[in-house]
Amino acid sequence: MAHTSPLSSCRDDHDPDALTLEQARTRALAQVSPVRGRECLMLRLALGRVLAEPVIADAPVPAHDNAAMDGYALMGADLPRQGKAVLDSIGTAWAGRPFMDAIGQGQCVRIMTGAMIPPGCNTVIMQEHVEVQGQRVHVGTGHRSGENIRSAGEDIRAGQTVLAAGTLITPARLGLLASLGRVEVTVHRRLRVALFSTGDELIALGKPLPPGGIHDSNRHTLSGMLTRLGVDLIDMGVVRDEPRHLREAFEEAARCADVLITTGGVSVGEADFVRDLLGELGRISFWKVAIKPGRPMAFGHLGQTVFMGLPGNPVSAAVTFYQIVQPALRRMMGEIEVSLPPCFPVRCLSDLKKRPGRMEFQRGVLSQADDGEWVVRATSSQGSGILSSMSEANCFIVLELEQGPVAAGDLVKVQPFQGLI
Ligand code: AMP
Ligand code: MG
Repeated sequence: MAHTSPLSSCRDDHDPDALTLEQARTRALAQVSPVRGRECLMLRLALGRVLAEPVIADAPVPAHDNAAMDGYALMGADLPRQGKAVLDSIGTAWAGRPFMDAIGQGQCVRIMTGAMIPPGCNTVIMQEHVEVQGQRVHVGTGHRSGENIRSAGEDIRAGQTVLAAGTLITPARLGLLASLGRVEVTVHRRLRVALFSTGDELIALGKPLPPGGIHDSNRHTLSGMLTRLGVDLIDMGVVRDEPRHLREAFEEAARCADVLITTGGVSVGEADFVRDLLGELGRISFWKVAIKPGRPMAFGHLGQTVFMGLPGNPVSAAVTFYQIVQPALRRMMGEIEVSLPPCFPVRCLSDLKKRPGRMEFQRGVLSQADDGEWVVRATSSQGSGILSSMSEANCFIVLELEQGPVAAGDLVKVQPFQGLI
């Protein structure tokens, strides 16, 4: 198989057929669209789903002016210019139990944090700033009319678009929607993702390994990440390296899933049938990306079903999932602003091997040094089959396409895993 280009040399990793990561991601995102179906869910069930309609506030939050502190509510006009004012405390306003009587000049109301401001009052003085003798409250100078009030609508104005369509519902956004009193929200339906592994060497868990056999770790790593993304997972198990079986599995997935993800069989070995079958049964958009680990990665369509064929090496499968599959799935789940965790520079404590020609995602452990600086060290082994490097790491060390080796002490970019891996 003449898949090595005459242009590549053993001193670098260039492959003229490979897309850059940016090109691959852009192409993948351009070729997928949000699933059509939508459903109305009780708020609590909507965590991790994506809004299919904007949410518009029909009332302000907070609904009433209320106290930001425990203290005394009064009229700003009663604040002394000099010396002290002595005011009569005529009642108490509690959170949820307002004081509704009108107050007159020279009067104040004991008030708790969150309590509605009594009619006529416009200022709250912290309890630590007054002296109290019985019902008499002494207030000094240095206060401002209007202080310690949370105004109605200061969080959300009535009529405001609070969350746009295409927004992922996070725990904070669940709270925000609850603060509006929203009972239900309309979200995109769950994405149906079929997953299978290929390889004659893959042995089911619980069975002893025959010579040459390995356990199917990828399906577990990938189903873990898919579960965290919140898809509806169709686990199709292991499919043998046999075109007839693979064809049947492709056809079944194309009938029932929005997306098919496979692992293994996309490189150019004798038993790697996945890419060829995709070419025969569907259309290939790209199958090589200039990243390490993870160069062979097939992306295309089987009818309406989006196909993503990941490499078999366990670290390659995790990297391609994180960098390419994840944004594409999130776009299909309805998210409009799909962004990955940010990269930022930190000092690297390890020497790193790197050849120009491929962007690398080495596995790193980000930690804080004794002097407080954030630093990263590479995990002990960087081979694409060393799954313990993924388990030990908490970030990728991202090395750019044309970058060469890194010496200990250099700055490198890191990208935290942020919960998915
Ligand atoms: P392949 O991409 O099929 O050529 O496989 C590349 C390497 O990854 C081989 O060493 C396979 O044994 C290994 N591999 C393939 N699939 C899996 C899997 N599901 N879990 C763990 N390792 C795998
Ligand atoms: Mg294989």
